[in-house]
Amino acid sequence: MTKYVYSFSEGTKEMKSLLGGKGANLAEMSIIGLPVPPGFTITTQACTDYYKQNKELWSDLLDEIKSKLAELEQTMGKKLGDATNPLLVSVRSGAVFSMPGMMDTILNLGLNDESVEGIAKAMNNPRLAYDSYRRFIQMFADVAMDVPKYKFEAILERTKEQKGYHYDTELTAEDLKGIVAEFKTVYKLEIGKDFPSDPFEQLLMAVRAVFNSWNNPRAITYRRLNDIPHDLGTAVNVQSMVFGNTGDKSGTGVAFTRNPSTGENKLFGEYLINAQGEDVVAGIRTPQSIDTLKDDMPAVYDEFIRITQLLENHYKDMQDIEFTVEDEKLYILQTRNGKRTSQAAINVAVDMVEEGRISKEEAVLRIEPERVNELLHPKFEDKALKAAHLLAKGLPASPGAAAGKVYFNAEDCVAASSKGEKTLLVRLETSPEDIEGMVAAEGILTARGGMTSHAAVVARGMGKCCVAGCGTLRIDERAGFFKVGDLTVKEGDYISLDGSTGSVYLGAVDRVEPKLSGKFETLMTWVDGMRKLKVRTNADTPKDARIAVDFGAEGIGLCRTEHMFFEAERIPAVREMIIAQSLEARMTALAKLLPMQREDFMGIFRAMGERSVTIRLLDPPLHEFLPREEKDIIELARTMSIPVDDLKARVDDLQEFNPMLGHRGCRLAVTYPEIYAMQAQAIIEGAIAVKKEGIDVKPEIMIPLIGSVKELAYVKSIVTEVADDIIAKSDVKLNYLVGTMIEIPRAAITADEIAKEAQFFSFGTNDLTQMGFGFSRDDANKFLGEYEEKGILEKDPFQVLDQAGIGKLVKMGCELGRSTNPDIHLGICGEHGGEPSSVEFCHRIGLDYVSCSPFRVPVARIAAAHAALKEKSGDQVRDK
Ligand code: PEP
Ligand code: MG
Repeated sequence: MTKYVYSFSEGTKEMKSLLGGKGANLAEMSIIGLPVPPGFTITTQACTDYYKQNKELWSDLLDEIKSKLAELEQTMGKKLGDATNPLLVSVRSGAVFSMPGMMDTILNLGLNDESVEGIAKAMNNPRLAYDSYRRFIQMFADVAMDVPKYKFEAILERTKEQKGYHYDTELTAEDLKGIVAEFKTVYKLEIGKDFPSDPFEQLLMAVRAVFNSWNNPRAITYRRLNDIPHDLGTAVNVQSMVFGNTGDKSGTGVAFTRNPSTGENKLFGEYLINAQGEDVVAGIRTPQSIDTLKDDMPAVYDEFIRITQLLENHYKDMQDIEFTVEDEKLYILQTRNGKRTSQAAINVAVDMVEEGRISKEEAVLRIEPERVNELLHPKFEDKALKAAHLLAKGLPASPGAAAGKVYFNAEDCVAASSKGEKTLLVRLETSPEDIEGMVAAEGILTARGGMTSHAAVVARGMGKCCVAGCGTLRIDERAGFFKVGDLTVKEGDYISLDGSTGSVYLGAVDRVEPKLSGKFETLMTWVDGMRKLKVRTNADTPKDARIAVDFGAEGIGLCRTEHMFFEAERIPAVREMIIAQSLEARMTALAKLLPMQREDFMGIFRAMGERSVTIRLLDPPLHEFLPREEKDIIELARTMSIPVDDLKARVDDLQEFNPMLGHRGCRLAVTYPEIYAMQAQAIIEGAIAVKKEGIDVKPEIMIPLIGSVKELAYVKSIVTEVADDIIAKSDVKLNYLVGTMIEIPRAAITADEIAKEAQFFSFGTNDLTQMGFGFSRDDANKFLGEYEEKGILEKDPFQVLDQAGIGKLVKMGCELGRSTNPDIHLGICGEHGGEPSSVEFCHRIGLDYVSCSPFRVPVARIAAAHAALKEKSGDQVRDK
C-alpha cells in the first residue's frame, strides 16, 4: 500500500520529490537534532492522486492522517481541539521547487470556542489565545473558503479606530473576543454555514485548500515563469504550533546565512517581537534587523548563530531560515537554499569554492545562465544621478536601475507594458496576486515591508529592481497617485528606482552599461575551462563587437550587412540600388556604397582583432527598404533624375505578397550579381587594409538563404572571382572562407550536397523555424500565445529551439554536411544561439560554436559549460 503520510522523523533531505522541499528539510533538521516543532508531511503523491480522484480525499489517506495526528498528539502530550490542553497546528504547502508565497498556509488550526479557552489557560495568556483565534478564522476563511481578507481587516481597523489604538498589539483579550465573534458572523454571511468547530474537519478542509492552491492562477503563473512542471503537486506540512506572539520574550523572523543581495558572508535577517510568521512576510509591520536580537535575547541569538552556521555547513549553500522564539525558546520552522540576486549567486558560489566547501564545477552549475543577464544591464549614469531629484529613500531590496512610468496596480502595469511602455509597479505592499504586474514592470516600489517582504523576495528571485518599505510615500492606489511631502506623482509620471541604494528619483534618470570584474571574472574563467562549444556574437557595428569581446565573444558569427544600410545617410543610396532599372544605374549606387561598406568592415575587423568574423552578404527583405512616404519618393526621384510617377510604378512593381519568402538573400544576387560582388570587394579590400596594419584578420563570407547546391555554387563563384582577383593583385596573403547559412529546410535536407561547396555552415534557426513550421516571423506572435496557453506548443519556437522538429533539421544538416565534408565548421546564429536549453542542444549535436547578441554571450558561455558538465556526469539533458 502506498504510504502517503510521513512524520518528520521518517524523512531525509533526499526525499524532496516526495515530501516537497519544506517537508524534506524539516525532516532533515529533526534528524540532525535541531529544535523543530514536531509534525508530519502529506506527500506530493497524495496531491497528484487527489487530482486523479477528482479532488476527493479517500479513506486510506484519511486513516493515515488520523494515525499520524494521534502520534503527534502523543509526542506533544496535547490533543487537537481539547478544552484543557489543546494542540494547535500550522498547515503549510511545500512544493518540490520552492514557490515563495505562491500557495497557501493556515496557522493556529485546531482553535474553536472550547480550545481557545484551553490555550488561554495553558499559556496563561487569554490575549494570545484570542489573537490566534481571530488570525485563524481570517486565514482559514481566506485560504480554504475564498472569503476576501479585507472583510476581516475592515473589522480590525474599525475596532482599532474606535479604541484609539495605533497597533494591533494594543488590542486586549476582550477586544479580540469581540472581533472573533464578528469574524464568525462574516464567515456565516459569506459561506452560509457556521465556522467549522470540529478540528479534524478544519484539518481536512485545510489540506484540501493546500492541494487546491497548487492550481491557483498565481501558482500556475509562477511555474510557467520558472519552468516548473505542472504535474508535481505540493506536499502538505502539518506542524505543531509555537507562538511568537506570547509577549516581549517571543518573536518570529527570517534570516539568510549570507546577504541575498550582495552575497556578503554575514548573517542577514530581520524579526518582529511579539508576532506571528505572516506579520514578517506580509510586510505590514517593519521588522528589526537580526543584529538587535543580540541585545534583546543574547542567549537565543547565540543559539541561532550556531544553528545558522550548522545549517549552512550541512547544506553547503546559503540558507534562508524561518524561526520563532516562544518565551525565549528558539524553534526552527524552515530552512531552504536562499533565493538570491545573480550578483549574490556568483559571489556566494566563488566564495564557497574558496572556503573549500564546494567544487568549481558545483559552483558553475549553481549559476543559472539566464540570470547572469541581470548583471549585464545598465546602471544609473553618475552625472545624471547627481543631478537627479531624490524623492525618497526606502530599503535596497533588489539591486538594479529602473526607470519608467508609475502604475498603481498589476493590471494597469501589464496593460501599459504590453503597449511598449516602460512601467514601474508602485504599491503599498505587494501580494502574490501582483505577480503578473511584477513580471511586466521594470521595477517595483513599495511603501511598506522589509527586506524579506513579498515584494523584496519575489523581485530578487526575478532579478528585478525593487525598493521596498519606502515609508515617506503616501500612496493612494485607488486614486492613482502618491505624495512625498508636497510633491505629487501621478499615474503615468516617470520616476527612477535604484535597487542597490533604495533611492527613488523623480523623472527618468539616464543609465550606462555596467563593468564586470572580480568574482564574475573568476567564475567565467572556470566556465571557459569547462565548455567545449565556442561562443561568438551577432554584431553589426564596431561598438557592438567591442561590447561582445568584453563579454568574452570569441568571434563574430553573424554580421548582418543590411543593418549597416539602415543609417539615414545611406538609405538613399541603398534605395537607388534597389530601384535601379539598369545595370549602369545600379553600379552608380553601388559605387556610393562601396567605400562606406569597406570602412564598416575595417572597423569591425579592428574591433575583433584576430578572431574570426563572419560577414553575411546582403539579405534585406525588400519591403523594409522601399520608400513609402510621399516625400521620400519625391526626394529619391529627384536624386535619380526620374519622374515621380515612374518611381512610384517601380516601387509598386517591387512590392511582394510574402516578402519573407520573396526576393531576398542569395536570390538578390542571382538577379543582381553586382551587389554581392561589391560586398565581396569591400570585405576583401577592408581585410587587406587591416591586415597591413598588422592584424591577422580572419574574414568568413556567408551566403544567406541557400536552398540548393547549384544556387550556392553560382553565388559563390561571384564572390570568389572578385575576392581572388583582389588578393592576387595585392601584396598581402589573405585567407578567407566562404560558407552558407542553413536556414531553408531544403538546405538542411540536402546538406551533404551543399557541404561540397561550403567551408562552413551557420544554422539560421530564425528562418529555419519560420519555414520549418510555416509560421511567419512577422505575424506568428498574433496566435502563438494561444498555442502556448492551450499546451499545443510548450514554448515560443522563435525563442526556444523546437528540438524535436527544427532541431532535427539542424542535426540532420550537421550529419549530412560532415558526411561529405568532414572538416566543415558548424555554428548557429539564429536567436536560439543565446538561449540556454538551445545551447545545450547545440553542444549535444556537436556544433563548433553558437553565436548570439553581445549581452547574451556570458549566458551562452555558462550554458555551454553546463552542457559539458552534465554530459560528463551522465545527466540527462532536458529535451524541450
Ligand atoms: C536566421 O534566419 O536565423 C538568421 C540568423 O538570419 P536573419 O534573422 O537575419 O534572417
Ligand atoms: Mg535568416
